[in-house]
Amino acid sequence: MTNYIDLHTHSTASDGIYSPTDLLQHAHEAGLRVLALTDHDTTAGLDEASEAALHLGVDLIPGIEINTDVGKDEIHILGYYLEYQRPEFQHILQVLRDARVRRGQRMVELLNQQGIHITWERVRQIAQGAVGRPHVARALVEAGYAQSIGEAFDKYIGRGCPGYVPHYKLAPVGAIRLIRSASGLPVMAHPIGLPGLDELRKWLPELVAEGLVGLETYYGPYTPEEVQELHELADQYHLIPTGGTDFHGPGIHPTPLGGRFVPFEAVERLKAEAEKLAGSTPPPFELPPPVEEK
Ligand code: AMP
Ligand code: ZN
Ligand code: FE
Ligand code: FE
Repeated sequence: MTNYIDLHTHSTASDGIYSPTDLLQHAHEAGLRVLALTDHDTTAGLDEASEAALHLGVDLIPGIEINTDVGKDEIHILGYYLEYQRPEFQHILQVLRDARVRRGQRMVELLNQQGIHITWERVRQIAQGAVGRPHVARALVEAGYAQSIGEAFDKYIGRGCPGYVPHYKLAPVGAIRLIRSASGLPVMAHPIGLPGLDELRKWLPELVAEGLVGLETYYGPYTPEEVQELHELADQYHLIPTGGTDFHGPGIHPTPLGGRFVPFEAVERLKAEAEKLAGSTPPPFELPPPVEEK
């Protein structure tokens, strides 16, 4: 089966390995017709990606991924068809990225205190855009503290590891409102890995009431049974079953770019929702009071 659609990818604007142009080139070579670029907390790759997509005849959906925390649950919200140039939207993204920088610095300090010698300067060089743990992981691999990115997460910077530091994040409802304030369509990413099926069931009613429109059902490594389970939940809540690979670069996540079948209907339904919103004034977004960073 040939796959034509991938709605979850990352570039060097956040923690992907390929530049937006190279990502589009690889997508084109893989036979993709529709690609969403969904970098963490940034839309900085979208102009370049749109330009490359235009040349290659790929339909680029302007997207984003916003990681959120609430209690012990972690939920990632994707946003599609964003009017991303809105200044208020860009301002909030800057606040989120600034929190990532402070957190990255603290992670390096914490690792240094444990005798692990990587520098913030090097992490910042590796991260060309929004900084994240994968950049710290690459610095750890480069300095010989781990053989692979996966090992760096497992040993040092995964949740609960000695070098892990949380950062200021919106709550899931905040991420949905932020995306809606840019006329975008909020979709819950990889629901089985994070937050997990039980947590998903707990959260869905509230998130749907806030304007969630989709559930990432056809995600990278999900089995047919998992896809079916998510599809049933999506139908129950009138959500669009979307999908993608979460491609970050070769060998980082198990699924290659475009390596997961996503039905055309997902794009058709997202497009129809985006068209309904076109021309209407989106609801304003107010940043919740800052949460103390631990
Ligand atoms: P951050 O947003 O800085 O906390 O980093 C989270 C990102 O790290 C996720 O979105 C994934 O892209 C990546 N990540 C998390 N765990 C792993 C892992 N075990 N191996 C590779 N990448 C990971
Ligand atoms: Zn990532
Ligand atoms: Fe994610
Ligand atoms: Fe992702």
